[in-house]
Amino acid sequence: MEIPERAFITDDDSRNNIHTMIAKCKCQYCNGALEFESENFQESGQDQRQIFGQFVPCPHCNKQTIIYLEKLAPQDNVRAFLKERDESRIRFLKERNESRIRSDSRIEDQLETAGIIILLIGLVAFLASVFLAVTSSQIEWLIVGFAAVFQGSIFFLLFKGFAEVIRLLREK
Ligand SMILES: [Zn+2]
Repeated sequence: MEIPERAFITDDDSRNNIHTMIAKCKCQYCNGALEFESENFQESGQDQRQIFGQFVPCPHCNKQTIIYLEKLAPQDNVRAFLKERDESRIRFLKERNESRIRSDSRIEDQLETAGIIILLIGLVAFLASVFLAVTSSQIEWLIVGFAAVFQGSIFFLLFKGFAEVIRLLREK
């Protein structure tokens, strides 16, 4: 296995002030060049020559190939890469915890809950109308029941849609 010319690049993203490293390896099927960032590398094992990551679809041949770090690359680079990977993982977990705490009272979750409650009320009204229609033999009650379910479903879908839109906007 040949050693890539420049196995590691240090890439400073000054916009977000995120320090990430890029490693290169080759697809095991087509030998096409692959690049991956330290924060996306998930170590899955190693042998004498390589530290293996996870399977990714090759951008050249589309087959699932495993990414890896060359142990023959300068050891300082390998260490720095893995260190950066660990630090980005800690950052990720920290950010996820923070967003979890923030998400406790998020409006989109409340909207979704409200939609479910309205839908449930509609279903209960439908059951009540079936009961009334049967006991009073007045079929008109069924129309009221269907209207209640229809209304509940519309509100449910509307609220759910709003919640998804807010989520999408938040992720940007
Ligand atoms: Zn390939």
